[in-house]
Amino acid sequence: MLSSPVEEIKGIGPKTAEILKKAGIKTVRDFFYNLPRDYENFEAPTSIAATRPGKIVVKGKIDSLSTRRAKRRNLSITEGVVRDNTGAIKVVWFNQSYRVRQFSPDKDYYFKGTYELKNGRFQLTSPSAALVSDVEVGGGISPVYVAHGGLKSNDFRRLINGARDKFAGIPDLLPTVQSGVRKNSLFKAHFPSSEQDITNARQYLAYEELFELLLASRLNRRENEKLNAVQVAFTAPKIREFVNKLPFKLTNAQRRAAWDIYQDMEKKTPMNRLLQGDVGSGKTMVAAMAAYEAVLGGLQVALLAPTAILAEQHYEGIGPLLGKFGIRTALLTGATKKKPELKKQIRSGEVDLVIGTHALLTDDTEFDNLGLVIIDEQHRFGVEQRQKLMLKSPSGLAPHLLAMTATPIPRSLQLTIFGDLDVSVLDEMPAGRQPVTTKITAEIDSKEKLYPAMTAIMNRAPDAKKHGDKARGQQIYWICKAIDDTSATAPNRGGSGKSGDVSAPQSEVTSVKKRTKRLREVFPDKKVEFLHGKMKPAEKDAIMGAFASGEIDILVSTTVVEVGVDVPNATLIVIENAESYGLAQLHQLRGRVGRGVSESFCYLLTSGDERPSRRLRELEKSNDGFYLAEVDLKLRGPGEIYGALQHGALDLRIASLTDTKLIARAQRDVEKFLGLGDGMAKYEELMSGIKKYQQITTLN
Ligand code: ADP
Ligand code: MG
Repeated sequence: MLSSPVEEIKGIGPKTAEILKKAGIKTVRDFFYNLPRDYENFEAPTSIAATRPGKIVVKGKIDSLSTRRAKRRNLSITEGVVRDNTGAIKVVWFNQSYRVRQFSPDKDYYFKGTYELKNGRFQLTSPSAALVSDVEVGGGISPVYVAHGGLKSNDFRRLINGARDKFAGIPDLLPTVQSGVRKNSLFKAHFPSSEQDITNARQYLAYEELFELLLASRLNRRENEKLNAVQVAFTAPKIREFVNKLPFKLTNAQRRAAWDIYQDMEKKTPMNRLLQGDVGSGKTMVAAMAAYEAVLGGLQVALLAPTAILAEQHYEGIGPLLGKFGIRTALLTGATKKKPELKKQIRSGEVDLVIGTHALLTDDTEFDNLGLVIIDEQHRFGVEQRQKLMLKSPSGLAPHLLAMTATPIPRSLQLTIFGDLDVSVLDEMPAGRQPVTTKITAEIDSKEKLYPAMTAIMNRAPDAKKHGDKARGQQIYWICKAIDDTSATAPNRGGSGKSGDVSAPQSEVTSVKKRTKRLREVFPDKKVEFLHGKMKPAEKDAIMGAFASGEIDILVSTTVVEVGVDVPNATLIVIENAESYGLAQLHQLRGRVGRGVSESFCYLLTSGDERPSRRLRELEKSNDGFYLAEVDLKLRGPGEIYGALQHGALDLRIASLTDTKLIARAQRDVEKFLGLGDGMAKYEELMSGIKKYQQITTLN
């Protein structure tokens, strides 16, 4: 029943199923496990006559809705009046003009927000709202679902309600838990009648998730230990010579990471190591040191990068350096000419290190003796892609694997969930690197402060002429949420404090295209171009290439520039609608600047006039990715009951990773379960379900 297609659920036809599929909800199981991301408690509304300042819930009809522009640009104010049979209060929303269209005048709604004195009058500020008849289905507590492709939270509620009778058929999953707990917990997660229900359901589901993760990671370690790799003996004098010839002094963190890697490669079992380091911490050099050692040991090395630009940057950065030591490096991307010749050289072993993109993965790219695979920005690759490369090793042997990522896994998480994965951390920046100065600012300031700041950047003399010297001044990234205006109302998913809004919050965003147009008007003598994920790869590469060489002054882009592009001459990044991004992503984006010697800046533009969120304030204060990752984990953990915790591909439904007691219990139970040996196979759903985690926590 659980693995049946989602169409089996009443009310889900082919069209809805298609949308759900895109959101990763394919089976009945997926549907049940699509847990609310939050709950809104509308219990115990007060009558309007009895309201007191503070957080309140009222129940009534709304009328007199209208939106106006504030004097300050880019701020819209939507107002209305909520009435019940005891009185009326004014409600106000900022930058949520869709509210005008949201309500039917003859229906009752709950409103939950802050009742406060503003400009001499009491008002209900930015309340969340829900149709009373919707909420009443599950008592006073209303689950909030993430919207997907036109399906709103309400639609999910309606659909899950239609599937109520199916919960009874959900079988047990874990042998370590009482029978029936799973189905009850899932039911209560969707239909809680009290806060306690939510807590209990969450407790079980968190345990289940931890059990699966830990089991996956333990099984992975077992699998990896069965594999054989080519052992590479450590050649101290050669490495010392190499290090001495580098144009800079290695950081201690780089030394430690390289040493970890050398020790791994001396072993018979393949290395399975993740190299984590904040943007700019110098991962590429560690990769080069690993590659050098592997080649000395008679092996070929493949370095896989997610984009052509990155592959080229690596090639230019480490190719010549390794060349001095007799290492033959080649670049293989979609644009490579004479591919057949190059592939012949790879096959015959005439090339030692191949740096490339997906072009490396094609079946006709064969190696003579591939013994080390390095994957940059590993979360950008699917499991199949990684595996494809691993399989290119000569028969019977597995290559060593070094995966690199700039997405920090919080330390608390490393110790628990990834306890079986080998991790090296670059927690130290190369000397001379300047921290990026970060400022939160309301968009309204743009004319007075931001534009002059931008002009100043573009008038500065170019920084490092690393990838081209066409720059007239220093350069700017401008990040937008949406590509064009049709997508500009995409729901806002950042896990902000306002996430409790039942009616799919949509902040007003300016699209890449519109922003480009405006900036061209503001800076008529500058070259402003745009970049987004829907462009053809060749187009994207052309724009990125032109930006890297300095031809473009301002690059307006969606988050596609997030991947480790290195343009040291770009020294300002403006992130519009900053409040709609997660902390980790903002930090990643900020890492696009601060890569040269000039002081760099990051402007976080917020749209509302509310106090900036804790996330933004933390970002303003700190440049430390690991610290921010911990903060992120904490903020999302207890704050959002069911936050979608994203760690690259690891999409945990429940932020339970800080619950050390629960982790300890799951660990004990997993050990017990592993004791069953072949008997584990009987738990089919569990064993097949953890494959998704196995593929994430292992690297090969
Ligand atoms: P990331 O970890 O983000 O991939 P990179 O490997 O791209 O970082 O390194 C960022 C920049 O720092 C590069 O230009 C690189 O040459 C330089 N770099 C790396 N290690 C050092 C070091 N020990 N001292 C000074 N500069 C370094
Ligand atoms: Mg990098």
